[in-house]
Parts: sequence; structure tokens; C-alpha cells
Amino acid sequence: MPLQSLPLMSHVIAERTSRPAALEFRSKRRSFHCEDRMSASLATANGLGDCPSRETSDVQQRPSHSSIRRPPPERPNRVYVRMDQVAGSYLVLDAIGADFFDELPAVDGVHGWTQYSEQAPVFVLWTPMSFPLWPFQYEDKDDDGLGWWETRLDWSGRNSTLYYNLFLEGLTVGLAKVSQVSSARAQQLRQAFSLSGLERPAQEILDILNRATKSLEWIGVYDVGQGNANGLCDDKETPQAYFDLGGGVTSHRNTFPAALTDFCYLASPPVVLSHWDWDHWSSGVRFRGAQNLDWIVPLQWLGGVHATFAAGLHNGGHLFVWPAATSALSSGQMTVRKCTGRGFGRNHTGLAMEVDGPGGQKPILLTGDARYSAIPGALNRTYTSLVVPHHGANMQNYNVPYGTLLAGARIAFSFGNPNSFGHPDSTTQRDLNSSGWPHSSQGAAAPIDRETKNRGSGGLGHIGLGWSAKPKLPGHNCGSNTCSVKLQNT
Ligand SMILES: [Zn+2]
Ligand SMILES: [Zn+2]
Repeated sequence: MPLQSLPLMSHVIAERTSRPAALEFRSKRRSFHCEDRMSASLATANGLGDCPSRETSDVQQRPSHSSIRRPPPERPNRVYVRMDQVAGSYLVLDAIGADFFDELPAVDGVHGWTQYSEQAPVFVLWTPMSFPLWPFQYEDKDDDGLGWWETRLDWSGRNSTLYYNLFLEGLTVGLAKVSQVSSARAQQLRQAFSLSGLERPAQEILDILNRATKSLEWIGVYDVGQGNANGLCDDKETPQAYFDLGGGVTSHRNTFPAALTDFCYLASPPVVLSHWDWDHWSSGVRFRGAQNLDWIVPLQWLGGVHATFAAGLHNGGHLFVWPAATSALSSGQMTVRKCTGRGFGRNHTGLAMEVDGPGGQKPILLTGDARYSAIPGALNRTYTSLVVPHHGANMQNYNVPYGTLLAGARIAFSFGNPNSFGHPDSTTQRDLNSSGWPHSSQGAAAPIDRETKNRGSGGLGHIGLGWSAKPKLPGHNCGSNTCSVKLQNT
């Protein structure tokens, strides 16, 4: 099939929305995720960014976005999939139309992918782990990236859900017949979505971090539903850098708060990405402004969906891949550390961030989804506060940096309500509580846990972490009428 005739799959999802499968998690809130101008954005062109319009309070309602009223494409039958993650009793797969991919000449990494990413039919599939045709076993929950497989979609089937887009309702579909792709084809797929060769010199990464020169007075743990986005903010709550810029996607898309209409770009803050899981960068697709920021990202394996986002950043000159030989970089109050988890799992092999207090106080640790033992030195360091790893998941490693209840001490949990992962996990709460971080669930007299899911009357649960005993939020007014990073709770 010639490329020109291939459909822009993300543009047509509204034509074929179907009853969601059981794994849909909805909030009663109206969901408003992005501006109409998104239609012209890089993300939309990349097939990831068509956002529901303002009128999607009921996901059964057809979005009014003009660009998604196109005739339906041919439904792909043959797809290549890569296991992305385990979510409860589901496998989550990153997928690309096989007929499309087979037509391409050799694609040399994300750089080469930029010329195809706009047409590429990339999508996400959720399928039950009990699906009998999977020819492989899972060693553990971090065992993602288990090679490439080919499967056939049965459009009258009902065992799976297909998301053409991270933010719109999924389609019910059947998965049939799974087979391993040839080693040559697997190599081509790996090569097409590789970040190798895009690493930047450490000094270049440092130069970007060095642009944040203001005193960092607050850490914003933003309520993005099931995901993570943290801001390193000045005394006016204006982010000077972000650590992750994610939020709820696919079956958790409705956990993203309707009230979060945009992030703040006043300071042209760089984004340090903890790792490539969708829920840690998806706001880079939701919001056009985020695509003009410089993204410092870890060198990790990607699927077609991630590579398409990365290609858009690369095209704009905004993709800065962390160099393999660099273990840490410090700039002002910030230290970025390369995580050292074993294996291919993304959670423990990305980047973590420590932020010292403005008066030299002990740092606040931002973890993304990385367990503490994978962050060099973390278990032996004293922290003022923690953003708890992986939305409060059970990390299968029960060591926690010891808490000493310094001024401002908090443990912040970023997760969506409801979520299918069971976040936060009671084991995590118990381990924190017994390690010097009093948690309300354990009957602590003066608990210091905070959760982004606790939304105020404005519909947002942003948490502000500081370094003083009685932190008082200064408020935020940058002049933008869509910016919604004003902190809510301490
Ligand atoms: Zn702002
Ligand atoms: Zn995550």
C-alpha cells in the first residue's frame, strides 16, 4: 500500500467508538483536555494528539472536533505488537499496522522515523493476560519489551480494547493468532524506534538545566490523574523545570482532571523525563505548549507510540537524550541521577531528580516510577520529602530512605481515582510508615501523606512541597488564563 493512501487513524476514532470494555475507568467530571488548536499541532499530526473536544463529558458523545470527522480507514488486520506493561490482569501492547510497516524502507531510528510518523498507524491494545494464545510467559511485572509479535485483529471479536489515541475511548476488538515475527523484522522494528545515536554530550544537557537560575522554593506534585507531573517552582509557583509531564491515558484517561486546562510555560522550563511510560509524558501530547519545551529523556527502548512522540520533539529540536556514560548532573539545587535498575524494564532504568532546599536544606526526591534501590545513593541519603515511586505501587523492594521528619516533610502520592492498578498499595503505605514517614492509613498521630486524588472545590489536587515547617502557598498568577498549576494543598 502506498503511504499516501494510508489513513490517519487518529483522525477517525470518533466514527467508530463502541461500548467500552470493562477496563474503562471514568470520572463523572466533564473531561476537557485540550484546546481546539491542537488540531494543527505536531502531536495531532503525529497521530497521538487528537483531543476530545470540550463536549466529551459523556464519552459516548461524538467529539465535535472537525478533524476527526473523516471517513473511517481500512481497519488494520495484521499488527506488530510489543508488550509495554502489565496492568492488573491486562497486558498493554504498543502496536503498529504491519502492512504499513512492511512497506517502509529501512528506518534508521527515531531520526529516520520523523518522516513516517505523521502517517503511521500506531496504537495501544489492552488484552487480558489470560489470553490463551500468548506464546510467552512473564517473568515479573517489569518484564516489558519482550520482543515483537505479530497478531491479527478480529473486528467482530471482543476480547481486547484498541486505542488509536491516548485520550479517546477505545474500540472493542478481538485478538487472534499471535506469532513471533522473524528476527529480521524484529530487528527492523527495534531499529525504527531506537533512540540510539541521539544522545547528547553531558555539557549540552547541563546547559539546558543551567537555564533554570531562579531559587526553587516549591515542588508542585500536580494532579494529572493516573500519571505523574512535578514542577520545580520559584516563589510564585512558576515552574522553572518539570520532572515528568504526564497524566492519565487510555483506560485511565478520564482520571485526568477537567480543570487542568494547561501547564505553565512562562519560564520556558525544560522537562526531565523519568522514563518513557505514556503516563509520564502524555501531557506533552495534550498541550501544544509542552511541545516547545526542551525534553531531557533517558535512552530506553520505545514502541511506535513513544517513537512517534519522540520524533515530533526531535523534529522541533527539542529532544535531548541523556548520554549513556553520565551517572549524574547537578545544576543549582537540582541533581539528575541515572537509575541503575537491571534488565529492560523502563521503570528503574530512567532518570530521577533531587532538589535541594533554597537554604541548603535536605533534598526532595522525585522518583517517577523508580524504586529507591535503583536510584544511586537514595537509600543512604536523608530527604526532606519524597514523591513516592510508581503512584504508590508495591515496588517489590521494601527499603525506603529513612525519614527524619525535617521541616516540611511529606510523602506525596500521584495517582488517579479510580485506577485498575490498585495504586496506592497498602504495603507501600505500611513500609513508609515504619521507616519514619507517618502515614494516615497506619493510624499515625500526625500523618504527612498527601494524595493528588484529593481534589478541592476547583477540581484539582495539586500538592505543594516546601522546606519550611508551616508552608504557606503564595499563589500563582502568570497572566495566562489557561495555566492551571496553582498549588492547592501542602
Ligand atoms: Zn502559569
Ligand atoms: Zn507511572
